Amino acid sequence: MADHFVQQLIESLHEKYLPCREGKVASYIPELAKANPDWFGISIVTVDGQRFEVGDIDQTFTIQSISKVFTYGMALAERGRETLLSRVGVEPTGDPFNSIIRLDENSKRPDNPMVNAGAIATTSLIPGKDITDRLNRILTMFGQYIGRTPYIDVPTFLSERTSGDRNRALAYLMRHFSMIEGDIDLALDLYFQQCAIVVNCQDLGVMAATIANRGVNPCTGERAIESDYIRDLLSTMYTCGMYNFAGEWAYKVGLPAKSGVSGGIIAVVPNQLGIAVFSPPLDGNGNSVRGIRVCEELSHGLDLHMFSSQMQCQQILDRIRG
Ligand code: GLU
Repeated sequence: MADHFVQQLIESLHEKYLPCREGKVASYIPELAKANPDWFGISIVTVDGQRFEVGDIDQTFTIQSISKVFTYGMALAERGRETLLSRVGVEPTGDPFNSIIRLDENSKRPDNPMVNAGAIATTSLIPGKDITDRLNRILTMFGQYIGRTPYIDVPTFLSERTSGDRNRALAYLMRHFSMIEGDIDLALDLYFQQCAIVVNCQDLGVMAATIANRGVNPCTGERAIESDYIRDLLSTMYTCGMYNFAGEWAYKVGLPAKSGVSGGIIAVVPNQLGIAVFSPPLDGNGNSVRGIRVCEELSHGLDLHMFSSQMQCQQILDRIRG
């Protein structure tokens, strides 16, 4: 694949942005501060299973907020749209991911499933016999997207559990308004563990491609989610996936996406391909600096913007197929 134009493009972007020194590695979860700011990987996986990769694609890290997309899908499939909508809205906030200020004034719902409040409420809806069963079911679901059974990074889970007062406060506020039922500590433990699932950049590429492929993992052929729910994931990613940069991202990159504080970003070109970038230094919005730059250039270079009129989606895949 070395002479393929997509491979050449990601190699040149990797070379261009590797020397970038902007941004800071997240440290509010102490364990995340151990990340090397030089880690940098890019992965593109097409719906027909072609892979283009460069850099630190095997380097493991915790998935953090990118997990929110996948548990939202699971909660939708298990509990239905109506229940989800009664507990978690679908409005972009323009606020930071951990904003404590807002629950919808009338409904008291968190605004959307991509901010922490909405994600904690979403995870609390995942059913199971007990906490172990619920966690195992979540891990099995992630395994279908990744193509192998994932595991949890216990030090990161414990690090967030002991430092996560802000999320704890959000959870208590939501229980006050009956948006979360039951034991707050169990709901938070499940959420913190989901955020501490270990992935690498290749995994994220396959996960994004699984969404692009309407719920079927293109590398294993296994279905991870019913295709009916893909539109829910894509629309919330598009409007809410990039923290308080979501509007500018939609304008400039024009793809459904989700980022996480350990430095990952996934972006989806529906029916075509998944993109993943991993690089820990974050900008002021909490998005990977190199990740944003790479995605902007990929969107421009491959003409991926959802509303671009220059090239129809099918033509993009035809070009990649050669
Ligand atoms: N576990 C992190 C938190 O709740 C996830 C935040 C993120 O990646 O945006 O603060």
